[in-house]
Amino acid sequence: MNSFDDLPDSAFVMSRPALASSAQGSLLGERMLRMLVVDDSEDDAVLLCHELSAHGVKLEFTRVDTAPDMDSALHETEWDIVICDHNMPGFDSLGALEVLKRSGKDLPFILYSGHISDEQAFTAMAQGVADYVPKGNIARLVPVIERELRGAAVRQAVRQADDRIKELAFYDTLCALPNHNLFCARVSEWLLETEKRGRIAKGALLYIDVDRFLRINASFGYETGNELLRQIARRLNECAEARVVLARLGADDFGLFFEGVDDEAKAAAIGEWVLKAFDEPFHKDRLELYLTPSIGVSLLPKHGQEVYELLMNAETAMAVAKRGGGNGVRIYSREMNASSAERVALESALRHAVARDELLLHYQPVVDGASGRIHGVEALVRWQHPERGMIPPDRFIPIADESGLITDIGEWVLRRACSQMKSWHDQGFAGLSMAVNVSAVQFGQPRLLEVVSRTLEQTGLDPRLLMLEITEGVLMHDAESAVGMLRALKNMGVKIGVDDFGTGYSSLTYLKRFPIDVLKIDRSFVRDLASDEDDAAIVRAIIALAKSLHLETVAEGVETAEQVQLLRKQHVDRLQGYFFSRPLPDEKISEKLAKDCDPGAVRET
Ligand code: C2E
Ligand code: MG
Ligand code: MG
Repeated sequence: MNSFDDLPDSAFVMSRPALASSAQGSLLGERMLRMLVVDDSEDDAVLLCHELSAHGVKLEFTRVDTAPDMDSALHETEWDIVICDHNMPGFDSLGALEVLKRSGKDLPFILYSGHISDEQAFTAMAQGVADYVPKGNIARLVPVIERELRGAAVRQAVRQADDRIKELAFYDTLCALPNHNLFCARVSEWLLETEKRGRIAKGALLYIDVDRFLRINASFGYETGNELLRQIARRLNECAEARVVLARLGADDFGLFFEGVDDEAKAAAIGEWVLKAFDEPFHKDRLELYLTPSIGVSLLPKHGQEVYELLMNAETAMAVAKRGGGNGVRIYSREMNASSAERVALESALRHAVARDELLLHYQPVVDGASGRIHGVEALVRWQHPERGMIPPDRFIPIADESGLITDIGEWVLRRACSQMKSWHDQGFAGLSMAVNVSAVQFGQPRLLEVVSRTLEQTGLDPRLLMLEITEGVLMHDAESAVGMLRALKNMGVKIGVDDFGTGYSSLTYLKRFPIDVLKIDRSFVRDLASDEDDAAIVRAIIALAKSLHLETVAEGVETAEQVQLLRKQHVDRLQGYFFSRPLPDEKISEKLAKDCDPGAVRET
């Protein structure tokens, strides 16, 4: 192979400005043209270069005249253009064009040859030859080269833009990871290939969501949030060896696909392993932050045959892990899907429930253990859904908690309950107390204090006749702030009751730390009181210890006369349950209150 470097400098590099049809000042005059000449005649090639150079073209070239030589020349260096003779011994222009096409390079290919018919020229151009210029006609060749180079430059620019668009469409630039699109494409591709080979595709898809990430963004700013995401991406990348697809699926969501994993135990082990990647704290400037993920896992083919299905189900499992408090792994199961679809529907309907007046309160009497008279009522919220009918609070309160709707709903319940009780007082049923349930989320909001004090003020209800019921978990979760909140409520004169007592993990001695007034013994202990010795013992112990701590007791879920008898024997302060009354609308309660002047009349009718 010859190259321009082997020839005397003066021959080609020097331009001759004086000549007509000069390439000076044009594309060709400015840059070095790298030209691959396919010609069996060394003399013709040298002459061509000489003449181009005389037209102001700076160039370097290599001449080849066989397919293998051309092929290796194409792969060895970058070229701008191929100039090809038509007929050579053992090689021709169509063969050369084939070699070029096979190389995958997009170079202009110009036929530069004598003796060629119009028909041959057309055939060549139909095959992809850019143009035909008769040998010796340099004046014609220069503009053709120029035009073709421009075309190639445009094509190159388009290709680059295309790559960039693809990059943006498939990569997450923040974490330098594949994005959702590429994740799906890669997993699908692998699925197809595995099937084509006649194998059964098995794998595990992990959906990873960082717990409370929005709070980090809100507290420390997006820059910190972004840096933490990059660090998470790095740690996940270390977890993911070859044959694993890792991607950033969304804001604080990552996806991992592991080939070959097909049983739940293995998948769970991988989940635990990813969980471990979050053990060490994350750092940004001087901050040290502990982060936890919620991880959902779906299995191929058990939980879906396609990547979209697997993603959806893994995300559902992730949401379940999150609801369970985060920092955990859950494997998808069918039941999750049903409930999650329902949740979405319920949540959007719940958004309008307050405004559309679909919520209402029922009241369940709480009866004095000694006298059997009504001591007060507990307000229990109901949702009258226009299509589904009455929805019990256990179904929608958790959704309200999670979506933040509880704030509005809780305020509504409190206002309604307090003003109802005030109106009963005004009707002559003085001294009755109102119990209102407060969810964990509500209790965690400082604005609860303001809401309670405003409601008391606006309704004129005596604070001592309002009891807020919270569950044990609320106290255990964040004891320090719970104590603060309870003291503030007590200062307003409001009473505090611990609901469903016995189902959490607190001990009575622990409860001593909290300024509470009432323990409501969970109905699960009351239910088997007569038949189960253990339950009877627990109830006895709770009542005895509560007395020693000067707490009042309420037994929940009292359904039978036998239970009433046993509980009264143990001097439980108050009783609540279907035996006395189901939760009822206010007008029914008014009737009961009227009859209650007659002792013993408060019975389910
Ligand atoms: P809870 O506060 O423990 O309320 C007592 C639940 O036991 C009520 O269920 C009541 O209907 C039921 N119950 C009463 N007596 C008996 C009985 O003799 N036998 C049986 N088997 N059950 C009885 P409900 O109304 O479905 O409320 C369920 C839970 O929903 C409540 O448990 C409470 O935690 C929550 N909840 C209700 N209303 C509200 C509210 O306004 N706000 C909040 N945050 N939670 C509420
Ligand atoms: Mg309650
Ligand atoms: Mg309860």
